[in-house]
Amino acid sequence: MKNTGKPGSKAPKIIRRAAHNVTRDEISKSALKVLYRLHKAGYQSFLVGGGVRDAMLELHPKDFDIATNATPDEVRSLFGNCRLIGRRFRLAHVRFGREIIEVATFRAAANHADDDSAHDTEGRIIRDNVYGTIDEDVWRRDFTCNALYYNIADFSIWDYVGGFEDVKRKRLVLIGDPEQRLREDPVRMLRAVRFAGKLGFTIDKSVVDAMRGHTNRLANVPAARLFDEFLKLFQTGFAKRTFDLLREHKLFGELFPATEEALSEDEEFVAFVHAALQNSDKRVAAGQSVTPMFLLGVFLWLPVKKLAAVRRAEEKMSESQSLSLASYEIVSQLQRRISVPKRFTVPMREMLALQPRFRTVRGKRAIKFLEHRRFRAAYDFMLLQSEVGQGDEVLAKFWTDVQTQSAEERAKSFQMQTGPGKKRRRRRRHKSMQES
Ligand code: ATP
Ligand code: MG
Repeated sequence: MKNTGKPGSKAPKIIRRAAHNVTRDEISKSALKVLYRLHKAGYQSFLVGGGVRDAMLELHPKDFDIATNATPDEVRSLFGNCRLIGRRFRLAHVRFGREIIEVATFRAAANHADDDSAHDTEGRIIRDNVYGTIDEDVWRRDFTCNALYYNIADFSIWDYVGGFEDVKRKRLVLIGDPEQRLREDPVRMLRAVRFAGKLGFTIDKSVVDAMRGHTNRLANVPAARLFDEFLKLFQTGFAKRTFDLLREHKLFGELFPATEEALSEDEEFVAFVHAALQNSDKRVAAGQSVTPMFLLGVFLWLPVKKLAAVRRAEEKMSESQSLSLASYEIVSQLQRRISVPKRFTVPMREMLALQPRFRTVRGKRAIKFLEHRRFRAAYDFMLLQSEVGQGDEVLAKFWTDVQTQSAEERAKSFQMQTGPGKKRRRRRRHKSMQES
């Protein structure tokens, strides 16, 4: 069996520059500067992680992690634009404008620190703050494809765990014993799926087997960390594929239990979610911005709608009020798993609660809706539903058309009369209210 050797006990396979395709063109100027300066100061200086992996795949990596034997303080003394972050394990952030290059000192894996206090009762790592050497550093990394070290001294790649072959074969293999590695950090299950989605890699059977039956360990992961992971899963351009993989491996329901339940009962909802994910992937590919609040609204839509109907049957309230109330309840449930900041949940609730307003197409209130600060998001949400045949196409067309009309045309569309008699105006308002 490969990879299960004792940490630190193996010599790396060194792949010389002529035998691999990682070019410096794939590495950002800033990352190269940091690598060279560390090297010139006499330290070991390696690019590691996704930067090497993605460069091998010619994916133009954007995020660069550097590993070195210089301590954080030594790193800081080399760079003016450097800040040390983290308390448990200190990392150096070297800043170049908006780009941040992360420099980590080699550290030993937790299971290498010779005591049990590094793990909690369920085997999760709670402490891994021991500096080490490169041949220790490698064993704390998750997948073999993430454990390649590109040496700036001679542009060779150091491979301790067979990652080079695994990148070529497009395989996600955990370093060491898969069961133990997933127990140490259950987020690695999500990372497996994320990399599979992004890179089109196959998750090795040993990893799939180790995940099976243990997905509920995600419940022990801090909700704030899961929100960070949620962003990486769904905002980096491969959301549709990642979503399908999360469901296939029974992970999605651990993140969004109410959504998973709704998905398993309703194919139409699956189609709606798919359309939203595809849309979001297209936006990322086109360099447009995506907001997590929209996707959250999509994920929660059916659970919210169902609960809103219940609340409305219990108590007299408008449809919009019931949607707002139900969103509040469903979001509170979700927060126990994934802690979503208020700046996303508040607009999301508004976006959902505004949906009934699209049905009012006459009068002042209707025309004013166009100026609502959440109109655009609510409109996109409504449009998406109609695009998958789950909304009113006539209404969708109406709200699309009115956005580009002149003031006069608009007044006509909303059947607003310029200067009608008082009586008539009152009658119209009454009619519009009845319709809403
Ligand atoms: P990307 O930047 O595309 O998300 P990445 O592989 O660079 O992918 P990061 O989260 O930036 O991922 O982490 C950098 C490296 O740190 C990884 O490649 C891996 O070697 C190591 N690493 C990160 N998270 C973990 C983890 N949970 N367990 C073990 N190693 C990890
Ligand atoms: Mg990275």
